[in-house]
Amino acid sequence: MKDQYGRTIDYLRISITDACNLRCRYCMPESSSGCGMEGAGKEPLLSVEEILKLVHAATSLGITHYRITGGEPLVRKECVELVQKMKAVPGVSSVGITTNGVRLAECAEKLKQAGCDSVNVSLDTVDTAEFAALTGRDALEQVKNGICAAKEAGLFVKLNAVHRKELHALELAAFAEQMKVPVRFIEMMPVGAGKSYVGPSNEVLKKELEQWYGARTPDLSRKGNGPAIYETYEKLSIPVGFISAIHGKFCRNCNRVRLTSRGFLKLCLCYENGVDLREVLQNETVEKLEKVIAQAIWNKPMEHCFERPKDMTEHHLMSGIGG
Ligand code: SAM
Ligand code: SF4
Repeated sequence: MKDQYGRTIDYLRISITDACNLRCRYCMPESSSGCGMEGAGKEPLLSVEEILKLVHAATSLGITHYRITGGEPLVRKECVELVQKMKAVPGVSSVGITTNGVRLAECAEKLKQAGCDSVNVSLDTVDTAEFAALTGRDALEQVKNGICAAKEAGLFVKLNAVHRKELHALELAAFAEQMKVPVRFIEMMPVGAGKSYVGPSNEVLKKELEQWYGARTPDLSRKGNGPAIYETYEKLSIPVGFISAIHGKFCRNCNRVRLTSRGFLKLCLCYENGVDLREVLQNETVEKLEKVIAQAIWNKPMEHCFERPKDMTEHHLMSGIGG
């Protein structure tokens, strides 16, 4: 469906939990309550049935691409079941998952069987000590095993790294090359704990990668459901993607909305605007639900205001929003 600015909204990120088995400093630091939606944490999570009802309604509005996220989606035991049931909804084109990879090794084969279309693994460093310091857990080997298992299961895997100023992009690109999976660098957004880690522009990384891996060429053939711009490098066989929300604002082409694990439909990462769908999901028909979603999406804000942090109204942690 279209919003008031003529943008086609066809992508929904669904957070299925705000719990997580890591404590990434920029997302859900140890000092936080462990729940990204402070204050709203007492509401129960949406049930599988409620999420499916929402997917039916959203799909009939033209939202056909879905990504399951969290918190950490694989800590919720119904995650694989949900992928499988969402894929069975008529009109759904793709269902992917974004995970920290810690539990991926045990879930990869089941995700494949469930019809999962892609697995994005968040990995910010391939250094064991740095991983433990950044995430609060000594789990790098588990994540690497998860990536291998996902590849072996035949899943389409991508790596996502958030651009902090300490990021070692060359090492991550070398690891991605070794694994033969695309890697994407995401500019840190000033959301939640991320405010203290906002780093330099992705342009810096492009230059750094070019010095090491040779001349870069835009890879226009590669277009997923998101805002990543891909490039190839002479000495790398994998594509490298850049998601530059801050220094390459892409709001004009934004195609997405987000559902929190407690049923709030969020329209933009920057603001708290949106609509609480829990009651509608529980008490109203799919037709009424469609109307409420359509009206909310129509009012999606024109653009984020990360460059003017004082105007931001979103104050939750990213783990409560789903990234
Ligand atoms: N736990 C899963 C994971 O880590 O992939 C899914 C949820 S996590 C919130 C989704 C993505 O958001 C991760 O790739 C994470 O690195 C990213 N993220 C968290 N805080 C961010 C921030 N302030 N700016 C940009 N990305 C952020
Ligand atoms: Fe957990 Fe993902 Fe946030 Fe890290 S980025 S704390 S893995 S939700």
